[in-house]
Amino acid sequence: MGLLTGKVALITGGSRGIGAAIVRRFAAEGAAVAFTYLSSPEKAEALASELRESGATIKAYKSDASSFDEAEVLVQSVITDFERIDILINNAGITRDNLMLRMTEDQWDEVLRVDLKSVFNLTKHALKPMIRNRGGSIINISSVVGVFGNAGQANYSAAKAGILGFTKSVAKEIGSRNVRCNAIAPGFIETDMTHELSDQNKELFLSGIPLKRLGQADEVASVCAFLGSDLSAYVTGQTLSVCGGLNT
Ligand code: NAP
Repeated sequence: MGLLTGKVALITGGSRGIGAAIVRRFAAEGAAVAFTYLSSPEKAEALASELRESGATIKAYKSDASSFDEAEVLVQSVITDFERIDILINNAGITRDNLMLRMTEDQWDEVLRVDLKSVFNLTKHALKPMIRNRGGSIINISSVVGVFGNAGQANYSAAKAGILGFTKSVAKEIGSRNVRCNAIAPGFIETDMTHELSDQNKELFLSGIPLKRLGQADEVASVCAFLGSDLSAYVTGQTLSVCGGLNT
């Protein structure tokens, strides 16, 4: 029996990177998995078919996490298909980096919409079914730059810091309903998002990481499995850093 057997998980942005690693890990741990994609339908369907062939219960949904209405339709569809949602992972995210002097209003708005408003959208709609089921675990993917900031990422850092305040407030509101809400703050994880970093920037970050390497998407997925499972039944309102010690 897996760590997540019998649980239904909804994961946003599961087509690539950290989200895809979470989808794989949750399926391997026995969860039924609903996950979303936006612009990568082939990758999403290939992942779903591969895991289905190895026995997983899994479905991919096209849904823009930044849209309140699409989030509502998505949650209704997942409930229709899977009957319940035990774990919600708000993972979808983007970067639009620029120095503050050059940052456009569009770059600010887009990042705040996709990285922060999405967390509100999905949590808002998934909360009622969780409360009805008398339990749930919400996991929000923030970032270490939401904790200590980063030059060139004022928009992204603000969104990721917003997630931390949101997580703590929601945890306080819904703890009495046995719904937990935690955040994960990854450091530098090897995905498409960090491939955009220059070698010079990577070297700079590496020098500040006690474990002296970038992280792997799997290593974030392991912490999600812990927070989604009953192993963390007494953990809520917390931010777990998965950053090789960078945030120390
Ligand atoms: P990634 O490789 O760029 O993947 C992003 C994922 O988000 C894709 O599956 C993408 O789907 C999805 N997505 C983007 N916009 C979406 C939207 N509006 N609606 C639904 N899905 C959307 O990024 P990643 O590195 O895996 O990052 C995943 C999360 O971890 C993000 O929240 C990111 O901020 C956070 N994080 C990453 C790092 C890192 O070092 N990589 C560090 C700290 C935090 P499509 O391709 O289908 O559009």
